[in-house]
Amino acid sequence: MPESLASFTTLTVEHLPAGITVVSLAVPGHAQNVMTEGFLWDLGQLLDAFDREPPRGVVFQSARPGSFCAGADVERLERLGDLPESEVAALCARGRRLLDRLSGPAWPSVAVIDGVCLGGGLELALACDLRVATTSSRTSLGAPEVKLGLLPGWGGTVRLPRLIGPGPAIELIVTGEPVNGTRAATLGLVDACVPPETATASAVALLEQTLATNDFQTRRQRQAAPVVIDETEREFLEATSAALILGRTGGHYPAPLTALDAVLRGCDLPAAEAAAGETAAFVQLTRSPVARQLVRVFLLGERNRRDSGTGDPPAADVAVGAGQRPAVVGAGIMGAGIVARHLRSGITTTLVDIDPETLARSVPGILAEAAWDRHTQASDPQRAVQLAGMLRASTDRAAIAGADFVIESVIERTDLKRQVLAEIEATVAASAIICTNTSTNPIATLAAALTDPSRFCGMHFFNPVRRMKLVEVIRGPATSDATVAAVVAHAKRLGKYPVVVQDSPGFLVNRVLTPYLHEAVELLREGIDPARIDRLARRFGMPLGPLELYDMVGLDTAFYAGLVMASAIGERIESSPVIPALVKAGRLGRKTGSGFYRYRGRGHDARLETVDERLADALEPYRLPDRSLRDADITDRLFLPMLLEALLVLDEGIVRDGRDIDLAVIHALGFPAFRGGLLAWGDSLGATEVLTRLARLADLGPRMVPPPRLRDHAASGRPFVPES
Ligand code: NAD
Repeated sequence: MPESLASFTTLTVEHLPAGITVVSLAVPGHAQNVMTEGFLWDLGQLLDAFDREPPRGVVFQSARPGSFCAGADVERLERLGDLPESEVAALCARGRRLLDRLSGPAWPSVAVIDGVCLGGGLELALACDLRVATTSSRTSLGAPEVKLGLLPGWGGTVRLPRLIGPGPAIELIVTGEPVNGTRAATLGLVDACVPPETATASAVALLEQTLATNDFQTRRQRQAAPVVIDETEREFLEATSAALILGRTGGHYPAPLTALDAVLRGCDLPAAEAAAGETAAFVQLTRSPVARQLVRVFLLGERNRRDSGTGDPPAADVAVGAGQRPAVVGAGIMGAGIVARHLRSGITTTLVDIDPETLARSVPGILAEAAWDRHTQASDPQRAVQLAGMLRASTDRAAIAGADFVIESVIERTDLKRQVLAEIEATVAASAIICTNTSTNPIATLAAALTDPSRFCGMHFFNPVRRMKLVEVIRGPATSDATVAAVVAHAKRLGKYPVVVQDSPGFLVNRVLTPYLHEAVELLREGIDPARIDRLARRFGMPLGPLELYDMVGLDTAFYAGLVMASAIGERIESSPVIPALVKAGRLGRKTGSGFYRYRGRGHDARLETVDERLADALEPYRLPDRSLRDADITDRLFLPMLLEALLVLDEGIVRDGRDIDLAVIHALGFPAFRGGLLAWGDSLGATEVLTRLARLADLGPRMVPPPRLRDHAASGRPFVPES
């Protein structure tokens, strides 16, 4: 091998005695291997060297266990939208040409996939003749580009259907969901799935086999030719996939449909021509504002991962518990979800509840949820048995004595919470961190029950815990920096996005949610059909309409939360008389079978039947003069007050950065990611346009009055939130 190879920064090259070359990838400065400029340069140099001195066969692997290659460096993707189309097309062609060289005319290659193999990483593996995946639980192969509003742009839409067939390829590409090593082997995406320790040896054996039979040449011919797909199969695939995509995306996300079209068109063509079609589709998607927002949202998540919660470097003013031995007090809906999340993250946890029946009921549910296998969409009973060994459940408070991190999640009663928190403090070591999952109690009020409030703060999860990735970390007046940093770090270990907020009514998420919920009820009082209100919110991109959300949360809970919020926003947003009236009438939502809608059954499994015809009677005493509103007016009425509230939250310093608001509403409320979050949506309108729209709503009173910050932005032209 030429001398120059010694200068690689991302690759190491090793020669085995039988003439096989092993290339190991490790990109410095990144948590995962990603395709940086440096890596692409090194790879090009290496392949030039192989042209000069061909090896007998090559193994491409990672030098980092658990990370084969996580794909493109997303910060590079962010810039694609600003480049001219021709430049983006040239980048695609350059990447494809490089990957095409991963196997030489006479030398075959094999990728060893241990850990994450996503996006460009998968395309790299696909460009090799053969693939070996490992059985490691970290091994995951996928094409998540649609989640960033894009599609695989380095030949993935061409290679994948030829390798595993159009149907499975479409599923991988349009859902963006990854598969594990075993599933990849079943699909034919990899040639073998073996334990990590034997993976390189298996790869070498595969190379020897294919060299002996020369069958890699046959594979290459198949990969270069069109895919045989009959007309009926094509129509079926097209119709079912398109219906599924539209059902999932509500038509808001162009990438999955564009990817479907690219795969199907490409099937009819020789690979080289199909690749040109893929590039054209990729370029088109980089022009879409949706891709720009989705990439931005991804980068907001990355920013969150780097944020210690207290500034950089993280402060360590006192010794606090590191969350090695966590405990949860309260085994209700939330406590159970929080414990399941701990087990899923591999963290042994203690759970205490005062009520033995609740505790006994919660344990099987916790284990089933913690052992949920997203690949099979079922709970894995074997895994559940293993996880049982990591859960210690007890009705005896003394069980938490050894805990260094306790999350209180008992019922939302101030006196009870204060008592339970004081008991927790008396039971655990003086360095243990104590958190509360309260939704409405001021942290200061609860902290007053403790001897040392510096180790106490809010850790507010969202329901359902398994799905909602946000955690609000609420600083009380006495909370130390070390406590905040430790709680932020613990939330990240649970796979959550922690956002640090100040102690104020509704914290962040419920504060911006309140005006939205309130406005929906005002619209009802003005004679607007409830189903229309909810439909328009869903059309905007929300997973649920506001009235559906009321029914899900429970009108009693909403009423109570409303009382708390009144202290912060009561002057601008009057509490609605409708909610207490419905609560008084026993219409609490799903849990009682009726609220704004009528349900068949109760609780979690309740099925929405229809708008309850008795709703009109219940609303009658509170009716306002009818208004005739266009759909766009209703959407403005729902979402502009949310935006105004977010600007006030910024003014009051409740969050440290506007980007936290965008991340929070997406991961706690399901605010549409394609809009980039609440403030990014405001920026897409522009402050001046927001003012114009608010002027049309001025007769609604103080709740539509623009805060000074909005006028400042309109005057200066500054965006509400930085781009990334
Ligand atoms: P829940 O009523 O389902 O569960 C509360 C549990 O606390 C019960 O199992 C009860 O037996 C237990 N408990 C009561 N007193 C106790 C004591 N002294 N020691 C130990 N356990 C005791 O309530 P939940 O919905 O899980 O809510 C719990 C907390 O989470 C509340 O503070 C709530 O505001 C907050 N929260 C709820 C949601 C939600 O949507 N449900 C969302 C975010 C936060």
